[in-house]
Amino acid sequence: MMKTVSSGNCTFSVPAKNSYRMVVLGASRVGKSSIVSRFLNGRFEDQYTPTIEDFHRKVYNIRGDMYQLDILDTSGNHPFPATRRLSILTGDVFILVFSLDNRDSFDEVKRLRKQILEVKSCVKNKTKELAEFPMVICGNKNDYGEHYRKVHSEEAERLVSGDENCAYFEISAKKNSNVDEMFQVLFSMAKLPHEMSPALHRKISLQYGDAFHQKSFRMRRLKEVDAYGMISPFARRPSVNSDLKYIKAKVLGEGHSRDREKCTIQ
Ligand code: GDP
Ligand code: MG
Repeated sequence: MMKTVSSGNCTFSVPAKNSYRMVVLGASRVGKSSIVSRFLNGRFEDQYTPTIEDFHRKVYNIRGDMYQLDILDTSGNHPFPATRRLSILTGDVFILVFSLDNRDSFDEVKRLRKQILEVKSCVKNKTKELAEFPMVICGNKNDYGEHYRKVHSEEAERLVSGDENCAYFEISAKKNSNVDEMFQVLFSMAKLPHEMSPALHRKISLQYGDAFHQKSFRMRRLKEVDAYGMISPFARRPSVNSDLKYIKAKVLGEGHSRDREKCTIQ
């Protein structure tokens, strides 16, 4: 199955098997949107802008193959539990964020991790892709220093120990420390091309969009590079209906239709 992705005036065909969704969860003000901003454009804003729910899309041409990564940057305060369950169900990879200077935000990450495991267990083993739920837990704002620390590294490490699909990183979106390493490990756990990490591909602007999907796409002046990424500027969050179809397609992906009713969204 091929999916058509619009990016400005350009449309790309991305095989459904190469389309993924990354969901970023955590309490508010812990730095979720800052991490997403680092990922998409390498920038950091000191000013706080509350997020309702932001949706971004990045398309890649990696050695001639097209990939798509949708990013759901959630709000942190979920007035509707069903919305969060839906976000979890549609997610292929997860970033759970807390702030190292805020104990409550760590407790929220513990709850979120539990909820992801619960929600995902209803689709477990149905498709190979969804049998594992790669996630990284980020202790953000480690630029504040030890004096402000409210969560010990060992505590957070204990949370992920023994789970090969979960890793813990202490990062700073502000100083850009450990952010790239975190993305590389996340993509590697998810068995996605590591070139999806910001440091490992060339960022291409929309003006090259027309040629971007071609197998032979190459920037002439960058002969040694064979991975490119482009932000899709007009990506809009799919409707709930599309999300449900997406989940259904994934669950039915390998022909296991019998248990699908168990996977209720409430
Ligand atoms: P969100 O609500 O989880 O999306 O949090 P934001 O990304 O909007 O960040 C909340 C506030 O924390 C903003 O004022 C950011 O500038 C700040 N912030 C985010 N990451 C860091 C960090 O790594 N270090 C410091 N010192 N501040 C940060
Ligand atoms: Mg935000």
